[in-house]
Amino acid sequence: SKRIVIKIGTSTIMYQNGAINLQQVEKLSFVLSDLKNQGKEVILVSSGAIGVGLSRMNLTERPVTIPEQQAIAAIGQTELMRLYSKFFYHYGHQIGQVLLTKDVTDFPVSRKNAVNTFEQLLHKHVVPIVNENDTVSVEELDHLTRFGDNDTLSAIVLELTEADLLIMLSDIDGFYDKNPMKYSDAKRFDLISNISDDILELAQDSTSKFGTGGMITKLNAAKIVLSAGKSMVLANGSNINNLFNILNGEDVGTLFS
Ligand code: ADP
Repeated sequence: SKRIVIKIGTSTIMYQNGAINLQQVEKLSFVLSDLKNQGKEVILVSSGAIGVGLSRMNLTERPVTIPEQQAIAAIGQTELMRLYSKFFYHYGHQIGQVLLTKDVTDFPVSRKNAVNTFEQLLHKHVVPIVNENDTVSVEELDHLTRFGDNDTLSAIVLELTEADLLIMLSDIDGFYDKNPMKYSDAKRFDLISNISDDILELAQDSTSKFGTGGMITKLNAAKIVLSAGKSMVLANGSNINNLFNILNGEDVGTLFS
């Protein structure tokens, strides 16, 4: 696969204590830069704006109101992009920020504009870094404007860019028959080809600390990816080198195909 979307969860780039994990942000920038050098086209969907914003403002808890959360996200998004820009530049690559809302993909004209932007960035060998536009995604208008989570967003980005593969990096080695954080005998699936209701049942039990999605939104993303005839790999982001292993066809994580 030449064109790849990589989605990174908040838990992969933040420490449990709420500080940003610079090693992870740098490693991710390094590995993606190297994949670019190999001739691949990479698109990064990065969570973490609120986490980074909280850390910048010395806050330990998410504020209660939506406008406050939006403000924290605006602060964190800037800082996160500053870090990516710095590290990618260090490894010889340029990034471009793409902020999307769900309605962008619902209407043909705005959808086309988003597609054009991605195409131009990739044509110029730039790495698009995507997040939801939290400023205009108001919760009151939830159903209209919000993806709700970056898992679904990353699947929609795969559709928009006609990428071949979505690699979703989380805090877990893959998709299991029950929540492995709670059950030590949980078994990982190597391959899932169809997101049935029985499969969705296995994801009900989430313990996400920072992330908003849990496993359900990852399966929803897989559903979108599968119906587009593409593939998705869910793997652990604690080892960013996993990206190389996945692309070498090694048995890492869970393959949805
Ligand atoms: P991220 O922040 O990377 O988006 P989340 O915390 O939202 O990740 O989702 C991953 C979590 O989903 C895992 O840490 C795990 O606790 C939970 N989970 C629930 N059910 C399952 C399952 N069947 N297989 C794997 N993980 C599961």
